[in-house]
Amino acid sequence: VPWDVVVVGAGAAGLVAAERAATRGRRTLLLEKNNKPGIKILMSGGTRCNLTHAVDRRAIVEAFGPPGRFLHSALAALSPSDLVELVEGEGVLTKVEATGKIFPVSDKATDVLRAFTNRLGRSGATLALAEPLVELERTADGFRLITSSRVLEARTVVITVGGQSYPGCGTTGDGYAWAARMGHTLVPSRPALVPVTTSAGWIQPLQGVTIPDVAVRVLAPTPEAANDEGQPAAARKSICLDSRRGSFLLTHFGLSGPVVLDVSRAVTGHSRPQSLLLECDFLPAIAAPILEERLRAAAAAAGKKQLLAILPEELPRRLTETLMLRAGLAPESKAAEVSKVARAKLVHAIKATAIPVHGTRGFKKAEVTAGGVTLDEVDSRTMQSKLVPGLYWAGEVLDLDGPIGGYNFQAAFSTGWLAGESV
Ligand SMILES: Cc1cc2nc3c(=O)[nH]c(=O)nc-3n(C[C@H](O)[C@H](O)[C@H](O)COP(=O)(O)OP(=O)(O)OC[C@H]3O[C@@H](n4cnc5c(N)ncnc54)[C@H](O)[C@@H]3O)c2cc1C
Repeated sequence: VPWDVVVVGAGAAGLVAAERAATRGRRTLLLEKNNKPGIKILMSGGTRCNLTHAVDRRAIVEAFGPPGRFLHSALAALSPSDLVELVEGEGVLTKVEATGKIFPVSDKATDVLRAFTNRLGRSGATLALAEPLVELERTADGFRLITSSRVLEARTVVITVGGQSYPGCGTTGDGYAWAARMGHTLVPSRPALVPVTTSAGWIQPLQGVTIPDVAVRVLAPTPEAANDEGQPAAARKSICLDSRRGSFLLTHFGLSGPVVLDVSRAVTGHSRPQSLLLECDFLPAIAAPILEERLRAAAAAAGKKQLLAILPEELPRRLTETLMLRAGLAPESKAAEVSKVARAKLVHAIKATAIPVHGTRGFKKAEVTAGGVTLDEVDSRTMQSKLVPGLYWAGEVLDLDGPIGGYNFQAAFSTGWLAGESV
């Protein structure tokens, strides 16, 4: 007897899709490549799982930019507050952090996963672990699925295999080949939410330094400036590809932290990443002229103090020392010794340091994959393929990627839910 529904991939989207389908009385099989479900839920948010964001449906749609429109029906089916209610209904209390990110009170991703596996268990769906789907074919009245160990028949199939980032988790982009074979158009995949590497030698010694609030702009040379290779990077005419504000982390390979991950999409989407600069304002709360005036006044009032001592406390000392050196100032300089020109250079270093981009850490270290199955070919009211009746797509395999903050899980859970309600 064929299955009513086979869901492929027991990640965020698949766990919910299978539970919904089975709860609605469909004979449902959930296939998973790994020997346990929900690996990315377990490793997400530093194993704390940032499951969604404390905003309404509209703000989730907006966070995804123009493609976010695709999510209207899915979010109407499962909104951020519905998701929180669902998890809390399984006894997993949640909390909203200052950034708006929602986590389990326990800070344990295992608790979030348990909420979903509990529901799946009650639904009557069959979970088959360590059984990857290898081939997907159409038949006269449904699909033939060839797994690593058997051949299955199904009336409907929901593909929730995710993207191709962190391939070590089992997400190796398997869905794209099936999509292409079924006639779907693919938007080329690329890493998103990925740390950025740099050729700037001064970064590496600062590894481990975190700055809570940095405004980052991704600058690309204008077409005319791109031909002018002789020019120093910082003096080129440029256009801003993206700008964000948030926490910034310096690492042994370059740059990370939420704000860097959020702008990384502009880096991986550019044909020549090495021509890009990340312009960093390490003190976005204070405008440059005000900062300059404050430093002047502080130097006049306490000239014998070290300049370092009168610099804003928000800036980590290791960073300010480096920025001073880069502005041509010895870290032990006395406040009164600093000339107007040197002060302006330091303010520039604090407010507009341009870090040359080398590239990114690639799919291996990307939290999300951008690109995937074209949204135009999927009915956003059901998640059903517009090309192949009975075939559904949900989660990251779709051409959807959102910012850091729980948006990607929300999209996966909501689209998975809607698919499971529709099969
Ligand atoms: C390190 C890290 C941290 C993250 N932190 C967060 C966070 O805090 N908040 C947030 O919103 N997002 C976070 N994300 C992103 C989030 O994990 C994904 O957007 C989300 O998991 C996508 O859900 P999905 O169900 O579409 O795919 P996935 O969760 O990736 O699930 C896909 C499943 O399909 C399985 N599979 C693949 N191929 C096959 C096959 N051939 N046969 C059978 N099964 C297959 C995989 O093994 C996997 O279990 C993070 C990602 C990473 C890598």
